[in-house]
Amino acid sequence: MTKDIRVRFAPSPTGPLHIGGVRTALFNYLFAKKNKGTFVLRIEDTDQKRYVPGAEKYITDALEWCNIPYDEGPEKDGGFGPYRQSERKHLYKQYADQLIENGNAYYAFDTSESLDEHRKIHEANGKTFIYNWNNREELNNSLSLSEKDVNQRLQSGNPYVIRFKSPQNETLILNDEIRGEIKIDTNILDDKILFKSDGMPTYHLANIVDDHLMEITHVIRGEEWLPSLALHVLLYRSLDWEAPSFAHLPLILKPVGKGKLSKRDGDKMGFPVFPLQWNDPKTNDISSGYREDGYLPEAVINMLAFLGWNPGTEQELFSLSELINEFSLSRVNKAGAKFDPEKTKWFQQQHLQNLDTSIITSAFEKILNDKNIQTTVDLNTVVSMVKERAVFIDDLWDLTHFIFISPSEYDAKAVKKAWKDDTPTLMHELTRILDDISDFSSDNVSTIVKSWIKGKEIGFGKIMMPLRIALVGSLQGPDLFDIASLVGKEETIQRIENAIEVN
Ligand code: GLU
Repeated sequence: MTKDIRVRFAPSPTGPLHIGGVRTALFNYLFAKKNKGTFVLRIEDTDQKRYVPGAEKYITDALEWCNIPYDEGPEKDGGFGPYRQSERKHLYKQYADQLIENGNAYYAFDTSESLDEHRKIHEANGKTFIYNWNNREELNNSLSLSEKDVNQRLQSGNPYVIRFKSPQNETLILNDEIRGEIKIDTNILDDKILFKSDGMPTYHLANIVDDHLMEITHVIRGEEWLPSLALHVLLYRSLDWEAPSFAHLPLILKPVGKGKLSKRDGDKMGFPVFPLQWNDPKTNDISSGYREDGYLPEAVINMLAFLGWNPGTEQELFSLSELINEFSLSRVNKAGAKFDPEKTKWFQQQHLQNLDTSIITSAFEKILNDKNIQTTVDLNTVVSMVKERAVFIDDLWDLTHFIFISPSEYDAKAVKKAWKDDTPTLMHELTRILDDISDFSSDNVSTIVKSWIKGKEIGFGKIMMPLRIALVGSLQGPDLFDIASLVGKEETIQRIENAIEVN
């Protein structure tokens, strides 16, 4: 029988979740759902010094907004809880002890001052100090000290850490689902701390203990954890546990230049690097978020899916359920993925077009309500008229405000171009034509006005441009007769009269 697929997203609540973290969560979610598995959220909060209040709530809110809910996690017990490492503290020490007993870990009593000293001496000789097989016998630990000495220190409360004893002269063959085989010479590994003097496990120990106890089958995480893979695999081996499969997702790179995408890139180029707005509780700084900037979660998810993955076809627009169907780790690249803010806007525009007009209309209604605008105009028609040109829902207001509010100013350039000496006379005449029309539908008004223009043997622009200025205030906007029909006969005539008076 094959095991049920279980994956986890394991963020540390040290601040807002970067979109790179959301991408990791998304790939875990897609992999779980594609394989009818379980997506677990585990909060890795063992480092109390870096804990930021509100960060966990931010993480769960962000996942909810993105529509990638976890099946198990804090407040959603699936039998493998608790899901916050701070609530699992009591679990870890026994495994560190087990590693000491079976000779794979040891107590180290070195003070930070003495380690600093060693570092300095090495640096002065152009070397790097690494705590491992090379020097562990000369340092202050249970491998170099007598058993009696060690016991005495432990009994007298001498502060200690527990370090992993990396094996010597071995070539590890690791496997990554995305990168394939990776060979590591164990002699380059350092003896990482597993258990700290404050009685808390380090990330490495807590992470593998929890992945084991939570029966995680696939660890899908960012490339920055690749250097820890050898240690993690060795820890599984030393505890006699079966290791999960590993997949390290490619880095997300800056839009221009080299290196990882950072908040600074976003600030400089004016795009968010966080899913939701974040108000830093310490500095009171506000960082922008995709949600508050008007992006649809569907667009953000689609954009993130393409950061490192592709379906192998030309298709770029995907709904979440299509992504679930298509997703596979074998189509994730190992090369870094360049973040492209313009492409993100393109995804946003495309997903907005795909939304049901009624959904856009109700969002638009809310915008009008917030602006205290009461109208009898058919909003579905208004939305259909301009939707194509909108990237964000908020754009609808910029594209249609003149339908709800009669222009009070006229674009000077447009007036200069289109408002001539004979314009007032022509416009007066036009109001009389319009006044006689009883069926004020766009098509009918268009036919009547156009045939009147033709009959006068003047250029269309001589009427259409000033009429546009009168109705819109500038030379922009959708079909003129659609606007006239929407605002109605009286208002159209009124606007023409206003324009004659002002220009
Ligand atoms: N807590 C780690 C982080 O913040 C998790 C790494 C992992 O997934 O193993 O990214």
